[in-house]
Amino acid sequence: MEKGKFIVISGPSGVGKGTICNKLINELNAWYSVSTTTRSPREGEVDGVNYYFISKEEFEKKIKDGEFLEYNVYNNNYYGTSKKIVLDKMKQGVNVFSEIDVNGAHNIKKIFPDALLIYIAPPSMEVLRERLIRRGTESEEKINQRLEIAKKELKEVDFYDFVVVNDDLETATNEVRNIILKEI
Ligand code: 5GP
Repeated sequence: MEKGKFIVISGPSGVGKGTICNKLINELNAWYSVSTTTRSPREGEVDGVNYYFISKEEFEKKIKDGEFLEYNVYNNNYYGTSKKIVLDKMKQGVNVFSEIDVNGAHNIKKIFPDALLIYIAPPSMEVLRERLIRRGTESEEKINQRLEIAKKELKEVDFYDFVVVNDDLETATNEVRNIILKEI
């Protein structure tokens, strides 16, 4: 029986969920589940820290070997959550933070019905576009694709336990912290 709680933080790229997670993980003594992906690293991303970056073939072998708790295809790349380490951490009573998409959140809720699902939403699509342009890690085409995915995702956020709008980073972080402290 798992004693730790699985905490899902979702939201479109550029919304600030990574920054919010980083701020809260140490504070809440939680563990961050590093996902595995087939997408290329962005500038500054480190293998084993942001993601485990592997090839499509390696990813498909891991699917076959049952190594993922859940996985999904997002913008033509695979993303997945490692099964063994997450289950081990939860059995030890450690709360697990995971940044996954809406699809992954649905799957996690089926596996752990008492998982806490939090969606970080942008104040508007225009603000999100500006943030992605400012971040400068994606081409205009990729930014447009991500904004389209974000629009679709935002229509599906009703099943999340909480939706937090990140207008101001500190306010949003405080809101997420308060939710987690109340729920764990
Ligand atoms: P990005 O390429 O911006 O890092 O991530 C793209 C999307 O994939 C984001 O919505 C992110 O939360 C999601 N994602 C990252 N890791 C996982 C994972 O392990 N499983 C699923 N289902 N989605 C993930």
